[in-house]
Amino acid sequence: MTKRRTAEPYKIKAVEPLNILSHEERKQALEKAGYNTFLLDSQDVYIDLLTDSGTSAMSDQQWGSLMVGDEAYAGSKSWYRLQEAVREVYGYKYVLPTHQGRGAENLLSQLKVKDGDYVPGNMYFTTTRAHQELNGGTFVDVIIDEAHDPNAELDFKGNVDLNKLQNLIMEVGAERIPFVCLAVTVNMAGGQPVSMANMREVYELCQEHGIDVMYDATRCVENAYFIKEREPGYQNTPIKDILKEMFAYSDGCTMSGKKDALVNIGGFLAMNDEELYTRSRELVVVYEGMPTYGGMAGRDMEAMAQGIYESVDDHYIEHRIQQVRYLGDQLIEAGIPMVRPIGGHAIFLDARAFLDHLDQDQFPAQALAAALYLDSGVRAMERGIVSAGRNKETGEHNKPKLEMVRLTIPRRVYTNNHMDVVADSVIELYQKRHQIKGLQMDYEPPTLRFFNARFSPKEVALLEN
Ligand SMILES: *Cc1c(COP(=O)(O)O)cnc(C)c1O
Repeated sequence: MTKRRTAEPYKIKAVEPLNILSHEERKQALEKAGYNTFLLDSQDVYIDLLTDSGTSAMSDQQWGSLMVGDEAYAGSKSWYRLQEAVREVYGYKYVLPTHQGRGAENLLSQLKVKDGDYVPGNMYFTTTRAHQELNGGTFVDVIIDEAHDPNAELDFKGNVDLNKLQNLIMEVGAERIPFVCLAVTVNMAGGQPVSMANMREVYELCQEHGIDVMYDATRCVENAYFIKEREPGYQNTPIKDILKEMFAYSDGCTMSGKKDALVNIGGFLAMNDEELYTRSRELVVVYEGMPTYGGMAGRDMEAMAQGIYESVDDHYIEHRIQQVRYLGDQLIEAGIPMVRPIGGHAIFLDARAFLDHLDQDQFPAQALAAALYLDSGVRAMERGIVSAGRNKETGEHNKPKLEMVRLTIPRRVYTNNHMDVVADSVIELYQKRHQIKGLQMDYEPPTLRFFNARFSPKEVALLEN
């Protein structure tokens, strides 16, 4: 029998019409944006896969909860609802609301990281690492080696290499390690999960040495789904219970509500240690706001509380992961080079293999993202040589091993029909890939250049059409 298909576990109550531009109009929009998808206007985009951050669709319950949000400056009812949701679903004792994930990272790093400290993590995330370094810490990557290889097929490619962590503890001493930052899943590795066994082992090792384990819980529900699917013993365990066990192997977390918590803005810092909580409460008023709103409106806290409960629904998370895979499987079948296995929130195309006629300094990922937009109005993001910037000493481009185009799937926003449109476009581009020309950079900002850099096609037109 053929495999039974599944569909979205929700129906559509409000629609947002999309603009569909002609090829000529897209060409003009692309030129206006300097061939940089970050600079496209959203009204010129048909299917927007730039990011899954803050782009989720809220449910009718969440929209309804906006109306009952309590906007009191202190002691808001909505705050108590959010605190209850975090305690119930995440299991931590203490919670502080922040405006988004980086607000929580700022508080945690200021309170725990001192000059000369080392902060081990399973691959870095931009803002997380920036806060650790701003406070004098040095980030140390302790992820398994395979995570850096796009073709290594592993169930849990986000795992920590315990030898690397153990060696670091021996080398610098436990007192120089304020905490281990464990991301579940690992965004920069392609949305790859960490196994329950690995979380347990990391926690046990850290406990032996008196080191805290703090999760970057941004995509924790997606990680829980991979455990349910792949780790022996969890196939019949509800997602909610898997999450509870995951968090039991940690001392606290930073959270961006803009991803798994299904809201457009918000975040929190949570922990079990009372002393850390007391100090965080003192600091939250400086950077975010009163401990009972900390950077969020009452209605936003209300919507996030509701989103937290919805995010652990087994049908919701199954469809979420399966939709990403629905797109990815079509591309794999067509022989498109990409990061394997498929992660939780995005497909990462291997632009170097896709456009193997281009040198890396012709910006293959940037050129591919531009070609995709021109072909179908789909917006993706470059994660390669442009994002990697230049070497501070030599002034040369950093040349990262991974030269990728990220197709990030927003939660509950698009149907599988949209995924078909994306797949058709990528596959057709692959068939005529040799027509895609490299780019030259015409304007290069000194910092975080990927946001604002401008390009133009090298030699002839981008796509002969
Ligand atoms: C988005 C993100 C953050 C930061 O959260 P913001 O809400 O954008 O500040 C931290 N870690 C990871 C893995 C993320 O994806």
